[in-house]
Amino acid sequence: MTDRVIVTMRGLTKRYGELVAVDHLDLDIYEGEVFGLLGPNGAGKTTTILMLLGLTEPSEGTVRVAGHDPTREPLAVKRLAGYLPDNVGFYEDMTGRENLRYTARLNRLPPAPAEERIAALLDSVGLGGDADRPVREYSRGMRQRLGLADALVKDPRLLILDEPTLGIDPEGVREVLALIVRLAREEKRTVLISSHLLHQIQEICDRVGIFVRGRLVDPGPISVPELVARGQSLDHIYLQYFQGGD
Ligand code: ATP
Repeated sequence: MTDRVIVTMRGLTKRYGELVAVDHLDLDIYEGEVFGLLGPNGAGKTTTILMLLGLTEPSEGTVRVAGHDPTREPLAVKRLAGYLPDNVGFYEDMTGRENLRYTARLNRLPPAPAEERIAALLDSVGLGGDADRPVREYSRGMRQRLGLADALVKDPRLLILDEPTLGIDPEGVREVLALIVRLAREEKRTVLISSHLLHQIQEICDRVGIFVRGRLVDPGPISVPELVARGQSLDHIYLQYFQGGD
């Protein structure tokens, strides 16, 4: 982890009519860290990610990704950020490899190096042997791993994963988390991971922010290794706000 900031949010707010989905969020994410955005369903995690990607416009406040405004410079942000949505969709009749080729074409990657990269990615997510099967035959865990590979096709500096372990069995969860850690550490990528499953993701995060009703609750972003060293329980903090939350 370095002290270079890659994502900055200041007073970031999103309203849907009367509902304040994200409420004056101030947050910095540092280059190379794994940051966990933790909170119950409906806390505003997905909305925050959509603003960060320029897929929905803030009602108020600012967000910058490597200095770019996602609303005004969506293509610059798209080049930098790989995104695994919580409901990742693929072309079911196409194989895993063909789906990744399609993403590579959308991102205008030259075909020959793209083909090599796709093969390497499929291997690294453990789908080398299944790459040429149609996606309709893939399990939920395989789809998530293909989703990770898909988010990585363009070699993004920032990887954004929305509920990456949802609906996967425990063995699959361990595999996906190990993979995320490897991608972050070995390739020095910044990872923003959103989840409502504290137990699952706390151990792979450098810092977490606990998000309830559109706000980061006190004590703000927490360094997980520091908490563990102090013998403090993140569970306790989380539950405290959950009980007061939903
Ligand atoms: P989940 O894990 O369930 O996706 P979340 O933390 O990602 O939860 P969001 O999806 O960001 O939460 O939703 C935050 C709030 O904003 C919720 O109350 C949701 O109903 C509302 N919301 C989200 N998108 C819209 C929309 N397009 N129009 C109206 N309300 C919305």
